[in-house]
Amino acid sequence: MTATDGKPEKIRCDACPVMCYIAEGRSGACDRYANDNGNLIRLDPLTILENRENTDANVVPFLEREWDGDIVAGPETFVTAIGAGTTYPDYKPAPFIVASEVDGVDMVTVVTEGIFSYCGVKLKIDTDRHLGDECALVRSEGEVIGHVTTSEYGSQMLSLGGVHHLTGGSKKEGRITCSTMLALCNGETADLTIDGGAELTVQAGKAPTINGALEERMRVGCGSATVGMFAAQWKDLVDEVVVVDDHITGVMSEHQAGKVIGWEPTGIKINGRRSTPGRYFQVAEPGTGWGGTNLTDPLAIISKFDAKTARPGLSILMVSTTGEHAAYFELDDELLPVQQDMPDRLLPSVRRIEENCEPALTSVLFMAGAGGSLRSGVTEHPVGLTRSVQNSLTYVSCGGAPVYTWPGGGITFMTDVTRLPQNAFGYVPTPALVAPLEFTMRADDYRALGGHMDYVVPLAEAIEGKTGRQNDHLLKGRRAVSSSSGNPWPAGPDNYPWRKANP
Ligand code: SF4
Repeated sequence: MTATDGKPEKIRCDACPVMCYIAEGRSGACDRYANDNGNLIRLDPLTILENRENTDANVVPFLEREWDGDIVAGPETFVTAIGAGTTYPDYKPAPFIVASEVDGVDMVTVVTEGIFSYCGVKLKIDTDRHLGDECALVRSEGEVIGHVTTSEYGSQMLSLGGVHHLTGGSKKEGRITCSTMLALCNGETADLTIDGGAELTVQAGKAPTINGALEERMRVGCGSATVGMFAAQWKDLVDEVVVVDDHITGVMSEHQAGKVIGWEPTGIKINGRRSTPGRYFQVAEPGTGWGGTNLTDPLAIISKFDAKTARPGLSILMVSTTGEHAAYFELDDELLPVQQDMPDRLLPSVRRIEENCEPALTSVLFMAGAGGSLRSGVTEHPVGLTRSVQNSLTYVSCGGAPVYTWPGGGITFMTDVTRLPQNAFGYVPTPALVAPLEFTMRADDYRALGGHMDYVVPLAEAIEGKTGRQNDHLLKGRRAVSSSSGNPWPAGPDNYPWRKANP
């Protein structure tokens, strides 16, 4: 390790295609590996899940002293891939292939940090407010990193990242895409702007900030649903109710819910496209006003009241789907609505809408595909792993968190980043995200799919930080964390159909 000029030689990291030369005491371009006295060290601690409450999350170094803590190998202990290292350049088995016994069944968990050029982040932002048109570009630091996709019930959805933005644009676009996804996956905030739309600050599990205002509520339902839910509570308190919604505005006197409980016609005429009785589309443009429209004056959606049916003094409640906006009107002698103070009798119903809303949150789902190279770290016959996952013989977890695996080809999965331990994600400057993956199955099933049986190590050895002979790096430390409440135990036999068949 000493060059002819007397200086220690740099060592080469081959844990990703960047292939850094790292000088003594320095770390590589991703800050995940370092040169420690000529040894390549994985800097983030290996994260070990414990299936109990209040596990101490202190980091204990492997290098400075022997572990004397209380992590005990057993069915309640699980080695995650966080801090384990990668299989790159793909010819070698995964960093840890761990044998354990659960309920008398011999199990194997293959542990690796995947490098994902093909990955993205799906954001669900609970708000009625219009954030941007479908397909509008989403930017971070001025770079395009994704787009607005289809709205869901009470939420606006963004699709960020993906191989196109990581690799298909400028170097800066790829770098910003990667850093923004990394921040979101590790639970940090990200500032986003949408072309022709809103400015956002978002963070997994927290309320979004939209154009500088913290969003409080996710709507109770669409306008039509809100009319239906509260029809009986409004009966005999007001003559007409209009629930303003960008998608489906509800009009009580025409709606089926109003009809069946004997609501009288009011002669109201709504601007917008009538879908079915009492349900109107396109009453205004989308925006950040009433019910996700651009309205600041809700009367703009009422064209008139028909003189054959309406009468002076007729009362009208207009309210948005979150209860954030509400106004009360009465018709004057010209049958024109005139705003009045909200009567006390209607205040509880508006509050009831607010109370039935849920707190607005930002949800962040990481999505990626476990490709051919990563699979070869598990087996010499990569498609065997795919089939094993598809047949539910292999349980896939991401840092111990459950994943949803898409049907069809490959192992394309999604996971809620709030269910992983903190700082589970990393990056490499290719650019790509690094995410932990664990594949757990019966030892017999692992053998059958062509697994690297010669590299299996007992759980106790893995917990002691003994890396297998396939690894050219050391581990700096380890940390024990509690499995998130609500997460299925990743090594649990209940994850498998063979267990259900033989309970
Ligand atoms: S970027 Fe990180 S993983 Fe890639 S070669 Fe450099 S130190 Fe190793």
